[in-house]
Amino acid sequence: MKLLEERILSQGQAVNEHILKVDGFINHQVDPLLMGEIGREFARHFRGQGITKVATIESSGIAPAVFTALELSVPLLILKKQPSKVLNTDLYQTQVTSFTKGTSYELTLSQKFVSDQDHVLIIDDFLANGEAATGAIRLLRLAHATIAGLGIVIEKSFQPGRGKLLEQGIHVYSLARIARMGENFIEFVEE
Ligand code: 5GP
Repeated sequence: MKLLEERILSQGQAVNEHILKVDGFINHQVDPLLMGEIGREFARHFRGQGITKVATIESSGIAPAVFTALELSVPLLILKKQPSKVLNTDLYQTQVTSFTKGTSYELTLSQKFVSDQDHVLIIDDFLANGEAATGAIRLLRLAHATIAGLGIVIEKSFQPGRGKLLEQGIHVYSLARIARMGENFIEFVEE
């Protein structure tokens, strides 16, 4: 998505060759006009596949996911991060390791909001090692929901996430794919 790539080049900051900061327009201060375009693009790509819900992982996936859910006119499920296992029989839970923080958390979903009738599109801001997305898929499959695909705003293609998801048979659609980056440069995958 040209518009997104231009914003990443003008306002993104590669902290080092692994971490990209986009907190001026995606995950701290949010540009609603750009998010509107992102939601429309995900909806255009995934429309007509019988999607019943959009799901994301709190918190930075919420902005792109809400605009996508709005475009598809379906509810948004926010998968919650909890520090440790909560003993509650009404919840699905699975453990995920965070790439940015190097910590683990329990991804949690209330049983009442998902069923075997759901066909779910997962949206997230970044794809790095694919742990968050794999956790979301595991959690939704505990509820016997089916997965329509994964929509990613920024994929760091030099990390193993995409490969891991493709191995699981998941369709991945990323709006910007970074081939490599460093302190003064960001290069996109040529498609
Ligand atoms: P993964 O589980 O794919 O390794 O990491 C996905 C999550 O880590 C994303 O939801 C995002 O919140 C965070 N993340 C991964 N890489 C980056 C990055 O370069 N910059 C930022 N801001 N967040 C990242």
